[in-house]
This record gives sequence, C-alpha cells and structure tokens, in this order.
Amino acid sequence: MLYSTLVEAYQRLEATTKRLEMTDILADMLRRADLDEIDKVIYLTQGKIHPDWTGEPEIGIAEKMAIESIARASGLGRDEVERLMAETGDIGIAAERAMERRRLGKLGGGQLTVSDVYNTFDRIAKESGKGSSERKIERLIGLFSEASPLEVRYITRTVVGTLRLGVGDMTILDALAIAYTDSAENRDILERAYNLTSDLGYVAKTLAREGLEALERAKPVLGKPIRMMLAQRLSTPQEILEKLGGVGSAEYKLDGERFQIHKMGNEIQIFSRRLENITSMYPDAVEMARRYIKAKEAIVEGEAVAIDPETEEMRPFQVLMQRRRKYRIEEMMEKFPIALFLFECLYVDGEDLTLKPYRERRRRLKEIIEETSRFRLVRSIETSEASDLERFFEEAITEGCEGLIVKSTADDSLYRAGARSWMWVKLKRSYQSKMVEPVDLVVVGAFHGRGKRAGSYGALLAAVYDPNEDVFKTVCKVGSGFTDEDLERLPKMMEEYRRGEKHPRVDSLVEADIWFTPSLVIEVIGDEITLSPVHTAAFNTIRVNSGLAIRFPRFTGRWRSDKAPEDATTVAEIVDMYKSQLKTIAGEAEER
Ligand code: AMP
Repeated sequence: MLYSTLVEAYQRLEATTKRLEMTDILADMLRRADLDEIDKVIYLTQGKIHPDWTGEPEIGIAEKMAIESIARASGLGRDEVERLMAETGDIGIAAERAMERRRLGKLGGGQLTVSDVYNTFDRIAKESGKGSSERKIERLIGLFSEASPLEVRYITRTVVGTLRLGVGDMTILDALAIAYTDSAENRDILERAYNLTSDLGYVAKTLAREGLEALERAKPVLGKPIRMMLAQRLSTPQEILEKLGGVGSAEYKLDGERFQIHKMGNEIQIFSRRLENITSMYPDAVEMARRYIKAKEAIVEGEAVAIDPETEEMRPFQVLMQRRRKYRIEEMMEKFPIALFLFECLYVDGEDLTLKPYRERRRRLKEIIEETSRFRLVRSIETSEASDLERFFEEAITEGCEGLIVKSTADDSLYRAGARSWMWVKLKRSYQSKMVEPVDLVVVGAFHGRGKRAGSYGALLAAVYDPNEDVFKTVCKVGSGFTDEDLERLPKMMEEYRRGEKHPRVDSLVEADIWFTPSLVIEVIGDEITLSPVHTAAFNTIRVNSGLAIRFPRFTGRWRSDKAPEDATTVAEIVDMYKSQLKTIAGEAEER
C-alpha cells in the first residue's frame, strides 16, 4: 500500500471527532492494506513501530534533530525552519511548508510505500552508539527527499511522537471487525484476542491472514503481555461475601508492584501493570523466576514487595519505587531487595489457563512454583465467614499489606483479561492515619536472625505495659532501625534476661524463638496503630478478638535504660493514640 493512502486517511481522521466516522475511515483504509503490511499500518496509525512493551528501541528523534533534518532536506536553514515552527506551532506543518518552499532537490513523487516508511523508521530506531544521531538524521533526510510535502507532515509528527489521530484501541478493533468480518458484532472476539496479547498489529495480522476462527482459538502468547485483570471494591466483608455468592478466597493485598512474568525456557520477561517491559530493572526477580518456576514455559502473576533484607518483613511501597530506575540497578538491588508473592497462573507449557476457574489456576501455580521465602504464593484463606475476613484483614494490615482481595471460587471464576471484574473484590481501609510520637516498648522476646543477622536476632517482640493486670502485652515485632553494632551487642545485652519459656507476666499470642524477663526498654516509632488479631495490647477493647499493633515499627536508636519496664508506654496510652488517630482522620474528612 502507498504511504499516501495512509496519509489521506490520516487527514480525514483529523477532520472528525465522531467515533463512528473514524471507524469507517479506518475500516476503509484497512481494507486497502496488503495482508502482510497490515500490522505496520496499525502501528503507524498508533504513531509507533511496535507495541510499547517489546523493549525494542523507539524511533527516538528529538525535536532539535527533526528541525536539523528538515533544514538540511529543504535547504532553508535552521532559522527559517524555526521561524516556520513558531508561526505554525506544529512541527508537522512547519516541515510540510519548508518542503514546499524547499531550495534543494526535486519534490518527492508520492511513490513511498508503507513498508518503505516503516522500514526506515525501524532502521532509525535501531541506530545506536557513536555517531548514531547523525545517521538517524541522514536516514530521515533520505525519507523526506522521497516524500511529498503532505507526507513529510505526517512523517515528522510520527518521528517526534506527536502524531495524535485520536483513535483509541477499541476504535481500531471495531474497524478491523468491519473491514475483515463485515460485522462490528465480532468485536468481542477480536477484543479477547487483544486482551490476551496486548498487540493490535498481531490481532490484525492473524485476522487478515487466518480469519476469525484463528482469533476464536486465541491463546496467550509468550512474550506478549496479557492485559491484567483488576478488582472492584466494596467496603465491608459482609458485602463482599454476598457479592461472591457466600464464599471466597481472600488473599493478602500486598502493597507493591504487579509483575506478570513470562518464562520461555531460560528467557524471562517481566511486565508491569501498565504493560511496560520492566525486565531490566529487576535482575533479582529474573533470577528467581528462572530458578523457581519449574515449568519450561509459563506466565504467572504476582506482586513484588520491598522487604527488609535482614528480617524479610515487608516495607512500604515508596521503598520499592527506588527500584524503578534505569541506572545503578545492581546497587539498588542490593539496597532494596524484593520478595515476590505469586497469585496467578495463566499459562503453562502450551496450556491456556485463563479460562479455568480460580481453584484450578491456584493449584497449577502451586505445582509449578518451588517456594522460597522470597518467591512464594501469596497468603490466602478460603472462607464463608465475615469474621474470618475481618481477622485476616487486620493481620494483613499489621504485616504491611494494603488489605485483602477476595476472589470468587465459583465455576465461572476465570481470568478476565483487561477487565475490572466483580470476580475480584478488594477490601481496603477507609482511612489511612499517621503515628506521630514514638513509644517506649519492653523487649519480651526475640526471633533468630538469618543471613547477615545469623547469630543475632532478626527481630524483637515488643510489648506495652498494662498496670491493671501488671502484665506486658505485645504490640509488634520490630526488626528495622538496628545498626550492625546494635545487632552485635543485643544477644550479649539480653543474655542475663534470657529464659527457657515465656515469662508469666508476658501476655502473647505470638510464639517467639527466645523469651526474656521483661527489662529492656527501647524507643520505637511506627507508621500507625492498627487493629490486629495477633497482638494482645488492648485485646477486646476496641474490637472483639482484636488487639492493637504498631505497623512498620522501627527502632529509633534510643535505648531507654533510664526506664524500668513498668515505665514503658501503657495499654491505655496506645488506646488513646489509636483513638486520636481516628479523630484526626474524622476531622480531616470534615474539613474536606
Ligand atoms: P488496585 O490497584 O487498588 O485496583 O488493586 C489492584 C492491584 O492490587 C493489582 O494490580 C495488584 O498490583 C495488587 N495486588 C496485591 N495483591 C494482590 C493479590 N493477591 N491479587 C491480585 N492483585 C493484588
């Protein structure tokens, strides 16, 4: 197909904002495309040369480079071209005018084909290394000299990334259905194939060459991201259970980044929720996927979360975001290690699992994953009781998660690619609060350390004081904030308080590895105080079967040796802090 045919359609598209008209213009253009060029036509119309997630280089012409190319191709000089730019405010129109007034060469004759243009763009994209800017400019000049001024307008807009025709993915799917099946009703079939592959060019080519039946059989394709399924939201466990028909599988909703991992033998690709190719940012995840996914080929999904390297406790989302970078990747990997919690299995060794129900996908996931502490299935419970959900929710929050996602386990609980579906319902907190003051906590137990902390403690079990009962009640496990020296000192410091079993004045549901006589007081700050079924401070005070806990606790560095354990923060104080948090939130909500 001639590039001029495409350009003619672009002009017509620009002249309308009506979706139906756009669809007709596109359908008309697609009918005229050669079958083996159809994918190129689609990508070019989207202003690109391939889907964004391929990891392949983009055309990458900066505006300055484009101006240089136009100046040289037209012989007008940079000043003149810049003046045209200022006059028109559009680099495409400026380029077109410049070519009309050119002082060099003959006018291009409109003989360029779509493939000519596409292939030149592709070569421009692939130029790299020393002198590549000049080579890109030369290739672009070559293209300009063969194009008509109108074609130059669109070529320029495409290379600088401002070809905005306003056609969405769904309009393209409609147009494809009309052009190749004569009926917009087949759109759903095309849409499913698109949801499975995120590649409109691929869908178009398969449809044009192999027909609708081929798309009806569409399966996930390794290396092409599946558009991700998302959750709806409700505010109470009761509502969620009702919506899911009385029973559901609740999973921790981790506060990290969604990963869709494609394993193709030894090759791993990782896609983000927005379908960016983030493989190169996470060499550690690549390595884990290679080692611990036992299938030869698979597509799995999970959430990556930043963890404390010593205690393996989860860290807040902002910490993980440090990993989102192009440079100093190895250094950040050491500094901010991650764990992966898997929750989906969409494809295994040739088999499409997207149409299988939840339980089966989960079973397959379990089969193909060799679990380690840093690469494992997300915690889940299947239940029909709202009270179970409540407890599990509080546990999730205390451990650093955002809440729960409760998933349907019904026969029709398939993976709805690209949909925000009621098969998944999230339960998040209605508020988010802030802990402003540190507290003084009594060390009542400890957990063995691993890795760098082997031989010392991984975390301490910390408690507040209850003067009414004269006992110590746990509020958190604290493993962050200790320096290497602190860690070395701790076992020695605690030796004299060490005992074989829990101290009678300690009230704990958590089983520590080592128990202490309550003596040492340390200062701890956290992000907030939350309800928790695992800690005993203020148990049954705010809510039945729940206590209060400190979320994301950190040692401030202050050993309160001036304080006796009975001088530590009390249960009543923690309750007050929790309530004042709630008041602040209510106040803020009112102000808004
Ligand atoms: P939201 O962004 O609030 O709509 O929640 C959906 C996001 O939660 C997903 O895109 C995932 O990144 C994340 N997530 C965390 N844990 C899970 C889980 N167990 N199942 C599904 N998504 C999860």
